[in-house]
Amino acid sequence: MQYKIGIDLGGTKIESAVLDSDNNILFRERIATQSHLGSEHILNQINIIYNMATDSIKNQPHTLGIGTPGSISKDTQLLKNSNTLCLNGLPLKINIEKKLNKKLSIENDANCFTLAEATLGAGKEYSCVFGVIMGTGCGGGFVFNKKLRTGPQYIAGEWGHSTIDLDGPNCYCKKNGCIETYISGSGLEKIISNELNTEISSYDFLNKDKFNIKEQQILNDFYRYFGLALSNVINIIDPDIVIVGGGLSNHNGLYENGKREIYKNIFSNVPTTPIIKNKLGDSAGVIGAAIIGI
Ligand SMILES: [Zn+2]
Repeated sequence: MQYKIGIDLGGTKIESAVLDSDNNILFRERIATQSHLGSEHILNQINIIYNMATDSIKNQPHTLGIGTPGSISKDTQLLKNSNTLCLNGLPLKINIEKKLNKKLSIENDANCFTLAEATLGAGKEYSCVFGVIMGTGCGGGFVFNKKLRTGPQYIAGEWGHSTIDLDGPNCYCKKNGCIETYISGSGLEKIISNELNTEISSYDFLNKDKFNIKEQQILNDFYRYFGLALSNVINIIDPDIVIVGGGLSNHNGLYENGKREIYKNIFSNVPTTPIIKNKLGDSAGVIGAAIIGI
């Protein structure tokens, strides 16, 4: 039996899972990242959860893969664009390999999500899968024939940083009017704060029972931008399915009003692309990490 261990390195929690060769989950555990204690502490936490995973299979042979926000530069081997800021600029893969004394592969967390959903989740019957994460930011991934397509610049799937309004809000990526500034959790919260002068989480806003006129306008715009953004993706790659993950994916309106807005903008008289909520939920990241392991 060749076991697969995956570790999903998040900003608040680190999760591990052990899969058997048929991708059944045999073990799963999570501990706090405690990123405020610094990068060395995070490496120790990874070591702790890795040891728990290997203990569960009595140290038998296994592969290891890690999912993380951000990406590892092919040139410098340094991590960039992680929201766990203390890890940026570090040779994360090399440091973890040294700590665990084990070779491993590492991949962006949205790519891990998409690969897991394409292999075992909502996309398992499809060959061309576009995965989107709508959480604090808007990430994504692209899987073709069960293989990740990351691209020479490692930006495949980064739909969140396409501009949909040149005069739109500033984005942290130094551009204006990125999709992420309109329909990510943080983007939506900024819009609500500016327009309604009130602080409410995007999750609570989207789950309100009743919307007043101003709130309804914000909600309608949210669907319109969602439709515009994903129709642009679909017009270019025409995927077999779009799978939505992340905290905002639980909002059912995305698959009704949001989907209607997508279909309005697709360059087809008979739009058919399924826009589907993920099937693996919280587990997708760690399963994807296990699948990419070496
Ligand atoms: Zn941006």
